[in-house]
Amino acid sequence: MRLIFLGPPGAGKGTQARVLERRFGAAQISTGDILRRHRADGTDLGKQAEGYMQRGELVPDDVIIHMIVGELDQHPSGFIMDGFPRTVAQAEALDAMLTRKGWPIDAVVLFDADRATLISRLSARWSNPRSGRTYNSVTNPPKKAGIDDDDGGPLVQRVDDRPETVAKRLDVYDVQTRPLVDYYRKVGKLVEVDALQNVSDVAGQLLRSIRMEPAGH
Ligand code: ADP
Ligand code: ADP
Repeated sequence: MRLIFLGPPGAGKGTQARVLERRFGAAQISTGDILRRHRADGTDLGKQAEGYMQRGELVPDDVIIHMIVGELDQHPSGFIMDGFPRTVAQAEALDAMLTRKGWPIDAVVLFDADRATLISRLSARWSNPRSGRTYNSVTNPPKKAGIDDDDGGPLVQRVDDRPETVAKRLDVYDVQTRPLVDYYRKVGKLVEVDALQNVSDVAGQLLRSIRMEPAGH
């Protein structure tokens, strides 16, 4: 399975990537999670990315593309790209890498939701910084507030999920990432899901759209 998840911050890409990871063992490649790990480890890449992430801007293409080359090599049997590509330059670089490897993409899944929903989801998002798993204090709470169900450790609210930075990130999506919708539609790879549904209905529509039947159907 080789999928790209496309959509604005808060649309539920990470949540659905985890559903597929649990069901099919597909590897999620989340560029946001990888960058946050680099920042936590204090690597050069983490230091390079820090300011951009805090401001809600995109990390420069050359830095991200270089990072993805190494990631792809670790996933010869398939992946779900979550948060990459985010610019046309990144998409072109990915195309070239996958063509070289002979690894065609099965589908690009577009998750979309209105701005008000995205803002309210992000303002209630809690994340496990160790695993990247996310919760929502309103729609998808952990069993115990502030504590991860899996490892029992603390959940955090991302600094870039504050309203001022969220507004910036949504603007950045509209200008720099939304053009990828047409880019992938033109090559006939785009499928769309209604990200306003609840998590299990989004998962059901997603599985049907990539022709993998949901459990129990
Ligand atoms: P979300 O899941 O809310 O959409 P991410 O965790 O994917 O956010 O990304 C957080 C930040 O990491 C972005 O605002 C950006 O600064 C940086 N980032 C992640 N992926 C990319 C990418 N493909 N290109 C450039 N910057 C990226
Ligand atoms: P993305 O990776 O696209 O930025 P996330 O998967 O992190 O988005 O989801 C953003 C927030 O919205 C999280 O708090 C998550 O628990 C919540 N969420 C995800 N999908 C849904 C949904 N279908 N309905 C309601 N809340 C959702």
